[in-house]
Amino acid sequence: MLPKFAHLRPATVGEAVAALGRGPARVHGGGTDLIGCLRDGVFATDTVVSLSGIDELRGISPVGDGGLAIGALTTIAEIAAEPTITTRYRALADAAAAVASPQLRNQGTLGGNLCQKPRCWYYRGDFDCLRKGGERCFAYEGENRYHCIFGGELCFIVHPSDTAPALAALGAVCRVSGPAGSRSVAVEALHVPPAVDPRRETVLEPAEILTAVVLPAPPPGLRSAYRKVRSRGAWDFALAGVALALVFDGETVASARIFLAGAAPVPWRARGVEAAITGRALDDATIATAAAAAVDGAEPLSDNAYKVPLFEGIVAEQLEAMRTA
Ligand SMILES: Cc1cc2nc3c(=O)[nH]c(=O)nc-3n(C[C@H](O)[C@H](O)[C@H](O)COP(=O)(O)OP(=O)(O)OC[C@H]3O[C@@H](n4cnc5c(N)ncnc54)[C@H](O)[C@@H]3O)c2cc1C
Repeated sequence: MLPKFAHLRPATVGEAVAALGRGPARVHGGGTDLIGCLRDGVFATDTVVSLSGIDELRGISPVGDGGLAIGALTTIAEIAAEPTITTRYRALADAAAAVASPQLRNQGTLGGNLCQKPRCWYYRGDFDCLRKGGERCFAYEGENRYHCIFGGELCFIVHPSDTAPALAALGAVCRVSGPAGSRSVAVEALHVPPAVDPRRETVLEPAEILTAVVLPAPPPGLRSAYRKVRSRGAWDFALAGVALALVFDGETVASARIFLAGAAPVPWRARGVEAAITGRALDDATIATAAAAAVDGAEPLSDNAYKVPLFEGIVAEQLEAMRTA
């Protein structure tokens, strides 16, 4: 059952920031994650501040030198269907289309997708885990088949968002508003690794709101994609995923940004893969070296060693797909 809380629906970002600054409060985008957390007692709040009355947070519009701004309240379904995104930022369109189910994509927003809480069953369940203020991570010695193989320290979640790795690969930047004004945060720097703070998911302060995500103009020769593997075809979070943004000069990869999903507590930059392919054509030998680099340094837990060959396989398959894309 949902606990009692005050529900506010401000009309401007300034009013929303002021409401959040008055005390323990939570932002409500589409509510597909927040309401479940409140109902299940993952955390409590005195006040829910809905962004749904703030029209300036909706929509997709061109910015700057050929870039694109996506308002935080834009739904995942709108992003998946937007022709500018499907043609110019394929990785984001792929990722949005892979989120949850049609109903959740119609209700869920981009801001909520980037700021959603972890899906670890200990965090969501009746366990006083480290992330909720307890003493330890139960997944480390417990049921951990869906947990991380990289970046685990103190807490062993995987980051649940599909859009975050795609946006990070595309070099997107978040616009943030708060009591001290506005600032920009690269999507790549939005999420907090547990080694820095295991009780925090993003760098946003309690009264800050993510207002938009800005994509840079796609460079000539950009090919991007997001590939997600889940345990069933219906809605599910990524067991493993890879977002790639490769800039080609002829057949050579001139530059690359690659992030893994379902691998680590934050979208995980695959620098070894980037190094293995940059300056090279994607021939079979290069792809084999890059795929091995994807899992170099992996530290699987007791139940998730299957992720190592899975990541190696999807990185190889996706690189093969991109040389002819
Ligand atoms: C059954 C199910 C399956 C799912 N499958 C997937 C999946 O496959 N892939 C995936 O990526 N996600 C999945 N999700 C997670 C989630 O529902 C979606 O990611 C959705 O996009 C979240 O958006 P929302 O607007 O509903 O978020 P909300 O529920 O409104 O918010 C989520 C969190 O973000 C915060 N927040 C929301 N907006 C902002 C903002 N603008 N600024 C600051 N903080 C904000 C809220 O306070 C809250 O903590 C699934 C959820 C469910 C219930």
